[in-house]
Amino acid sequence: MAYDVTLIPGDGVGPEISEAVVRVIEATGVKVNWDVQNAGIDVYEDEGTPLPDRVINSIKKNKIAIKGPVTTPVGTGFRSINVALRQELDLYSCLRPCKYYKGSRTHYKNVDLVIVRENTEDLYAGVEFKKDDPKTFELIEHINALSGKTIRIDSGVSIKPISVYGTERIVRFAFEYAKKNNRKKVTAVHKANIMKFSDGLFLEVAREVAKSYPEVEFEDRIVDNMCMQLVQKPELYDVLVLPNLYGDIVSDLAAGLIGGLGLAPGANLGDDIAVFEATHGSAPKYKGLNKINPMAMMLSGVLMLNHMGEKEAAKRLDSAIEKIIEEGKYVTYDMKASPDDTTAVGTSEVADAISQILRG
Ligand code: NAD
Repeated sequence: MAYDVTLIPGDGVGPEISEAVVRVIEATGVKVNWDVQNAGIDVYEDEGTPLPDRVINSIKKNKIAIKGPVTTPVGTGFRSINVALRQELDLYSCLRPCKYYKGSRTHYKNVDLVIVRENTEDLYAGVEFKKDDPKTFELIEHINALSGKTIRIDSGVSIKPISVYGTERIVRFAFEYAKKNNRKKVTAVHKANIMKFSDGLFLEVAREVAKSYPEVEFEDRIVDNMCMQLVQKPELYDVLVLPNLYGDIVSDLAAGLIGGLGLAPGANLGDDIAVFEATHGSAPKYKGLNKINPMAMMLSGVLMLNHMGEKEAAKRLDSAIEKIIEEGKYVTYDMKASPDDTTAVGTSEVADAISQILRG
C-alpha cells in the first residue's frame, strides 16, 4: 500500500531539505505518493497568494502533510502561512520533542523534553490593529474608557486571546501524550502573575484538567523562571505545555540545548489532520548552498512515520540518524566544533549516508 502525503517543499532551504527527506523516507521502504504543493514567497510572486487553496485542499484530502519552512516577511507584507495553515486546518497541537543524540555538539547530555505548544490562539491569533488606523483609534479610546488605563494614541495593538476551550484541549493533549508515551510529568508554563486573565486562565484550566490525570505529575512554572531552569537543569523536566508564543520561544531554547535547530523536529496535529515540519525556519542565507542540516526535517519524518503506524520504519530511520550523528563523519557544519570545519558535508551527502544505512 502507498500512502498519499502532501509535500510542501517551502522556500529558502526548504526544497533542499525536503528532497533529502523524501529520499530517506523512500529508503525505509515505505511507499508514498507525494502530492507536491508549492507554497511560500515564490508562489506569492506567481499566484498572488503564498497559500493557494489547492494546498489546503490537498492536505484536507490526504490528512497527512510534511512541509519545509516558509519565509514570513518581518513587520510588513503577507501574514505567516505557517500560522494560517495551523488555524485553517485547526492543527491545535504543536508537538516538538527535543532529545539528546550521542555525539551532538552540546554540553547537555541529559535532555529528553517534549514541548507541547498551543497552536491557534494567544498573540498568534492575528488580531492586530495598526498604528494610526481609524479602527485603532476607536479601539484605544474604548479600551481606555473601559479599563481606566491609558494606551497611547500612537500605539499598534495586538490582541492576546486565550480561551477555556483552547486551553483545555491542548492541556488534555499533553496529558494524553504523557500517558501514551510513558512520561511522568507535565509542566504548564505561563506568566499568570502578570497576565491574570489570559495566562491566569490558562493556568486555572490546566490545573483543572490535571485533576483527571492523577497518574501523571503536574506542576507549573512562570515562563522566565522556566527558561532559567531549562538552561540550568533541563533533566528535571519532561513534557511542557505552553500557550502559543512561549511555546515558540521555549522550543528554540530547547533546540539549543540539544545542539541546535538542525536537530529539532515537530508536528502540527489536529483531530484528524497532521502536518509535520521542523522547528527551524527557511534560513534564507543558506538557500541553494547544500549546507543546511536536514536532520530536523528527517526527524519530523520519523514523527510522520510513527503517526502513520509505520513504527518499524520510524525506528530504523531514527536509528540511522542516531548512528550518523554518533559517527560524526557525514554531518553538516552546525554539528562541527567550528562552522568553518572543512570536513563538514552538505545536505544531500547526509541524505546519501542515511539512505545507505537504511538500504543496508
Ligand atoms: P531560521 O530558523 O530560519 O534560522 C536561524 C538560523 O539558525 C540560521 O541562520 C542558521 O544559522 C540556523 N539554522 C536554522 N535551521 C538550521 C538547520 N536545519 N541546520 C543548520 N542551521 C540551521 O530562523 P530565522 O532566520 O529567524 O527565520 C527565517 C525565516 O523563516 C523567517 O521568514 C521566519 O518567519 C521563517 N520561519 C518559518 C518557520 C516555518 O516555516 N515553520 C519557522 C520559523 C521561522
